[in-house]
Amino acid sequence: MKIVLLGAPGAGKGTVAKALNKLTGAVQISTGDILRSEVRAESDLGKIAKGYMDAGDLVPDELIMRMMEKRLQQPDCAAGFILDGFPRTIAQATALDEMMPELGIELDFAANLDVAKEVILDRLTTRRTCSNPDCQAIYNVKSMPTKVEGICDKCGSPVVQRDDETEQAISKRLDVYTEKTVPLISYYEKEGKLLNVRTASSKASAQVIFEKIR
Ligand code: ADP
Ligand code: ZN
Repeated sequence: MKIVLLGAPGAGKGTVAKALNKLTGAVQISTGDILRSEVRAESDLGKIAKGYMDAGDLVPDELIMRMMEKRLQQPDCAAGFILDGFPRTIAQATALDEMMPELGIELDFAANLDVAKEVILDRLTTRRTCSNPDCQAIYNVKSMPTKVEGICDKCGSPVVQRDDETEQAISKRLDVYTEKTVPLISYYEKEGKLLNVRTASSKASAQVIFEKIR
């Protein structure tokens, strides 16, 4: 399975990617997770990325492309991959299309997680993420709370709200999504590679995508 997951922030890309990883063994590649780990490591990339991320803005395309070109050449990608949060602009999608033949990769399709705006807003404000970099489990104070309040079920670390999950940054991320990422839906449609997924839950979405690939 070699796919791109499209969808608004909070559409459930991370959850769907994890479910697909369990079903198929394809590796989840989340640009957001990679960037957050660069920020924690205070790498050169991390130092540049942090400002953009905290403001809810996109990290510049060149930096993302350099990062992804390296990532896609790692051996674990041979088992397939699920791109979660990339590409996010037409420029990134075009650059990816140019890069893939050189790397001997062909995309199966882009799955667009089509989720209502009210659901998205509600999810983003109630989302909590495990602060342990090796875990990063995702919870929701309403629909998927931790067993002990504020503590990750899996690893016991505190669960926190991300720096870009303030109301202001969320609203900015949604605007950026509408302006920069929504055009990718027609981009992949024109390539004949779009799968629109509109289901009630992330689990059901993962199942629909999995069925499509078999
Ligand atoms: P979400 O999908 O919930 O917005 P992510 O974890 O995918 O969150 O991304 C968090 C932030 O990381 C984004 O707001 C953006 O600043 C940065 N980022 C992630 N992926 C990309 C990308 N492909 N291009 C540019 N910036 C990105
Ligand atoms: Zn954890």
